[in-house]
Amino acid sequence: AKQSGRNSQCFFDPAMQAQLHARARLEGDLRQALANNEFLIHYQPQVDVERRMIGVEALLRWQHPQRGMISPGEFIPLAEENRLIVPIGNWVLETACRQLVAWAGDPARADLTVSVNVSPQQFREEQFVERVLATLDRTGADPARLKLEVTESLFVKDPDDVRESMIRLKEYGVTFSLDDFGTGYSSLSYLKRLPLDQLKIDQSFVHDLLEDEASAAIVASTIVLTESLHLAVIAEGVETEEQRSWLLAHGCRTFQGYLFGRPVPVDALFFPC
Ligand code: C2E
Ligand code: CA
Ligand code: CA
Ligand code: CA
Repeated sequence: AKQSGRNSQCFFDPAMQAQLHARARLEGDLRQALANNEFLIHYQPQVDVERRMIGVEALLRWQHPQRGMISPGEFIPLAEENRLIVPIGNWVLETACRQLVAWAGDPARADLTVSVNVSPQQFREEQFVERVLATLDRTGADPARLKLEVTESLFVKDPDDVRESMIRLKEYGVTFSLDDFGTGYSSLSYLKRLPLDQLKIDQSFVHDLLEDEASAAIVASTIVLTESLHLAVIAEGVETEEQRSWLLAHGCRTFQGYLFGRPVPVDALFFPC
């Protein structure tokens, strides 16, 4: 009785009510967003030691007709809850593949890779592997230029199924990067079982690198770990020259962050204003 009393009190709390309304409205708008063409992709450079762009990460943006640009931090969690992330993620994949094809004819851009974020819900879809292969086929994109960014949370459940799907995609040349490395809860044992190509050092560690010994130790060990496991490594969220120098001195060779370029519409990648 006490429990239901508290619930009904919540229900009539005007602030809570308003919050629920706002959320329901956002969800309704999100359902329309694909059909209304409100999504776009910004691309952020990934660079080598010479600061040359070797690839980009595709980052989703939602241009809401009334509210303006809404950041993925706000709507991706909602899209994951109601599974809208599946059609939205497919749209991102398709758009990124078309971008690869647009670059393929240009010798200056043909070698760029595109990293696409894949939510666990999307990866676990029955037809995920077929979907990716069909998209590559339909667009004519080179699978070797497509990198899928997955997170540790994907490996917690049914790691054997995940492994099998990864292997099938890797047979075509698709590569895998482990995003937000070190922030999840899973054990490191998946590193030996799953066919990853790259670890992405989370920006929280990079951010604290120069002030916090523990972060520095985690980053240094991660780089050594990738060397021993023959994995590539990229540091994300690199904002300062000091962070870059430190990472370089510790063996990191690939970087992403505001220091090299913010996520921008595709044209601004090559002709920065
Ligand atoms: P993420 O995959 O970890 O992406 C990196 C985030 O850090 C991006 O935020 C990027 O704009 C931001 N960032 C890049 N460089 C710097 C830097 O130097 N300093 C700081 N402070 N931040 C930097 P964004 O674009 O807001 O995306 C947030 C998250 O939304 C992403 O985190 C990813 O988890 C998710 N997301 C974005 N696009 C997609 C998508 O197409 N599909 C899925 N499933 N998730 C996406
Ligand atoms: Ca990412
Ligand atoms: Ca990340
Ligand atoms: Ca993140």
